[in-house]
Amino acid sequence: MIRVAVNGYGNLGRGAEQAVSRNDDMELVVVFTRRDPGSVPTQGAPVAHVDDMPRWADKVDVCLNCGGSATDLDQQGPATAALFTTVDSFDTHARIPEYFASVDAAARQAGNLALISTGWDPGLFSMLRVLGEAVLPEGATTTFWGPGVSQGHSDALRRIDGVLDARQYTLPVEETLAAVRAGRQVELTTRSMHRRDCYVVAQDGADLARIEREIVEMPNYFADYDTTVTFVTAEEMAAEHSGIPHGGTVVRRGTTSEGVAASVGFDLRLGSNPEFTGSVVAAMGRAATRMAARGEAGARTVFDVTLADLSARTPEDLRAHYL
Ligand code: NAP
Repeated sequence: MIRVAVNGYGNLGRGAEQAVSRNDDMELVVVFTRRDPGSVPTQGAPVAHVDDMPRWADKVDVCLNCGGSATDLDQQGPATAALFTTVDSFDTHARIPEYFASVDAAARQAGNLALISTGWDPGLFSMLRVLGEAVLPEGATTTFWGPGVSQGHSDALRRIDGVLDARQYTLPVEETLAAVRAGRQVELTTRSMHRRDCYVVAQDGADLARIEREIVEMPNYFADYDTTVTFVTAEEMAAEHSGIPHGGTVVRRGTTSEGVAASVGFDLRLGSNPEFTGSVVAAMGRAATRMAARGEAGARTVFDVTLADLSARTPEDLRAHYL
């Protein structure tokens, strides 16, 4: 049994808890939190304060770090790598090299293995981008995101004066996606690839035209996209927009000889982004324990993980039934 700790009990922490319960070779032995442990209601696993982590060092095989990328993981990544084999889903793409370096230093010093930036993007999508380019060196890789909820864009809507609640869906522009899949030449711009649908609960008496204008003209977030705004009641928001779906597509298009086209595609349609991300993080936890058991230390990424290490099956089983 792989003894798993979940560090941080938010959406992803709950998703990882679900995922661990679906893997017969794993058991959740503890949930760590910065809050009062008595206030964190898990599905049954004991809860410990993060200050007690050192006491768990020899009772945990892998610690799944489920804190946020914006402010939590910069501290949590190196701190936990000093105690445990770790996995996280750090997703601030531009800062991955610097985050890797800081976790690597802590993990090397302690002789632990730390697998960073897993999940689906970064994570499975990154693996497919590398695979597509490796087998089709002459070509182009395109990533479309959605349909799905963007937490950052939903937060930006909620900050507008007169907005009580909001949900933003990112959607791929279907005609562009279809053209890319078919290998047709198409101009790929911010506007031609994605659009944004906003559902907003406004305060009674708020100026709806002003709110809509502020949204569609908001720089960086909405101005460069075709954006629709739909005002809904709080009841409609609760009934129809409470899920956290997401997904996307990676397409590698290329040629294998002059005029002979080939394409490789990978699609995700996720009813729950955190539950799926938690599922990836759990499988990466299995791989990390195996890599650590072979004596590997330092930071690693999904590019260093083998499919054999990810799978719960034996290498013999994989060779006999999956090749
Ligand atoms: P979240 O729900 O905001 O949770 C982040 C942390 O906030 C938790 O670990 C928890 O820490 C604390 N928290 C949660 N609920 C709280 C509450 N009610 N009151 C006070 N504190 C609370 O964030 P999330 O949705 O789980 O996302 C975590 C990260 O996952 C994101 O930042 C993103 O980087 C990453 N992610 C990656 C991918 C990918 O594909 N790579 C996909 C999705 C998400 P404590 O328990 O210690 O308080």
